Amino acid sequence: MGRVALVTGGSRGIGEAISKKLKADGYTVAATYAGNDDAAEKFTQATGIKTYKWNVADYDSSKAGIAQVEADLGPIEVVVANAGITRDAPFHKMTPEQWHEVIDTNLTGVFNTIHPIWPGMRERKFGRVIVISSINGQKGQFAQVNYAATKSGDLGIVKSLAQEGARAGITANAVCPGYIGTEMVMAVPEKVRESIIGQIPAGRLGEPEEIARCVAFLASDDSGFINGSTISANGAQFFV
Ligand code: NDP
Repeated sequence: MGRVALVTGGSRGIGEAISKKLKADGYTVAATYAGNDDAAEKFTQATGIKTYKWNVADYDSSKAGIAQVEADLGPIEVVVANAGITRDAPFHKMTPEQWHEVIDTNLTGVFNTIHPIWPGMRERKFGRVIVISSINGQKGQFAQVNYAATKSGDLGIVKSLAQEGARAGITANAVCPGYIGTEMVMAVPEKVRESIIGQIPAGRLGEPEEIARCVAFLASDDSGFINGSTISANGAQFFV
C-alpha cells in the first residue's frame, strides 16, 4: 500500500482529478465531500476510492473525520486542501453571510483540514501539504472580495507552514489554478465565461487533470526542496 493521501472536495471537479491521479500514482486515497451523496457514490463506483462526508468549515467534524480516515487507512502523509466555494457579489451588495460562508469554507476550512494532521506529520518527520488557492487570490477579482481574501490567505498559510515544517521534513505548497472547466466555472453565465476565455492567452479553460499533475509533483519525493512555493497554472493569464 502506498502513502495515504487525503483530498478534501475530492469527489468532484479538480479534486476528483487529483484523487484519481494520486491513486494512479500508487497512493491510498481518501476523498471527502460536503453533501452531494449522488456524486460521491458515482465517484466511488467509478474509481474504487473511499469517500468521507464532513463539512470542512467545522473543526470538530474535520478532526473526527480525519481520525476515521487514519483508523481505516493509516496515517495521512499527503493532504490536499482543495474543498472550496464561491458566493460572488459586488462588494456593495455582498452580505455578511456571503462573506462568512466563503471564509469559513475556503480559509478556516484549510486550517481545520491541516491542523489535526500536522502533529502526526511532525512526529513521523514527513508530510506533504498542498493547498488549492486560485489566480484570483493572486490578483483579486471583481465580485470576489470574499473569495480573493480566502485564496490569498491560503498563500499566507502555506508560506508560514513551510517555515514551521521544514526541519520536520514537511513541505507546504500551493497551486493557483487559472480558470478550469469544472462545474464551478460552468455555473458562470455563458457570456461571462466567453469573456473570461477571451482574457486567457492560451485561448481555453484549463483541464482539471492539468492541476492534478501539479499536485502529484508537489506530493512526490522529487519536490522535497520546494517549500512555501506556488505553482501557477493559468494559461499565461497572469504571472507572479
Ligand atoms: P467544485 O464545485 O467542482 O467541487 C467542490 C468540491 O468541494 C466538492 O467535492 C464539494 O463537495 C466540496 N466542498 C465544497 N464545500 C465543502 C465543505 N464545506 N466541506 C467539504 N467539502 C466541500 O469545485 P472546483 O473543482 O471547481 O474547485 C476546487 C478548488 O479549486 C476550490 O478550492 C476552488 O476555489 C479552486 N479553484 C477552482 C478554479 C476553477 O476554475 N474551477 C480556479 C481556481 C481555483 P460536494 O460534492 O458534496 O458539494
